[in-house]
Amino acid sequence: LSASTLPPSPTDVPHSIPIEPRLTARADKIAETVARALAHDALERRLAPGDALDSEQAMLDRFGVSRESLREALRLLEVNGLISIRRGPGGGAFVGTVDPSNLGRVASLYYHMAGATYGELFDAYAFADATLAMRAARHVDADHRRVCMEPFLDDRHADGDLDEYVQRHAGFHSAVAALADNRVLQISLHSLGLLVGRHYIHQVDAHHLTLAEAQESRDFVASDHVAIARAIVAGNHRQAFDLMAEHVAHIIDTLEADGIDRNAVIEWV
Ligand SMILES: [Zn+2]
Repeated sequence: LSASTLPPSPTDVPHSIPIEPRLTARADKIAETVARALAHDALERRLAPGDALDSEQAMLDRFGVSRESLREALRLLEVNGLISIRRGPGGGAFVGTVDPSNLGRVASLYYHMAGATYGELFDAYAFADATLAMRAARHVDADHRRVCMEPFLDDRHADGDLDEYVQRHAGFHSAVAALADNRVLQISLHSLGLLVGRHYIHQVDAHHLTLAEAQESRDFVASDHVAIARAIVAGNHRQAFDLMAEHVAHIIDTLEADGIDRNAVIEWV
């Protein structure tokens, strides 16, 4: 860790930029107009992840904008993961995915500038995931609940390398978020947990945690997941809410033990 990335000491009062909601219309820049047209297009043409957009020349001809504006438009979509750009022969712009962790990453810049702390992020994460779990248990289709939770109904997958474990953990929470059956809640609320996950990975990298050190937290995680999955399958929404809130509290304890300071300002990751 370099000095610039260290969290401020408790005696520092971090500076923040005021939160000022304003609902005024702002004229789009050319690049934003083009980016909006491209996003609209991808839906209209029913494109799937990995499908190619038009060639740069075709887009330049169509929109009649400068190469610079077109590239800015593509960059706007690329930073949000909605397209990927490959250079060289066979390159071009390709449809990406809708990944709530990208929303979390963008939001973390806002949280950072507003001086929001990890304590606030943890609080929001507990609220978000408990709410998603409650809604998942209330999903009307019991068969669908069972099918989605089935992979998590036993803890046989607790082994494996750290990356696999992190992916599997995120996979459970993503499955719960999808069962909440509201894409706005799925994307916005789930982005908080994914942001916490990004910080966890960052922390593991920064402190070179070994598998053995990380292993301890896996045991409770796997058994927590089994209990939550069962409550969701059973349609017990109050229990699902409570168990998820407890599970997130467990995770937060682990993160704090690993050195994330709840009074520190959220980093933009
Ligand atoms: Zn979990």
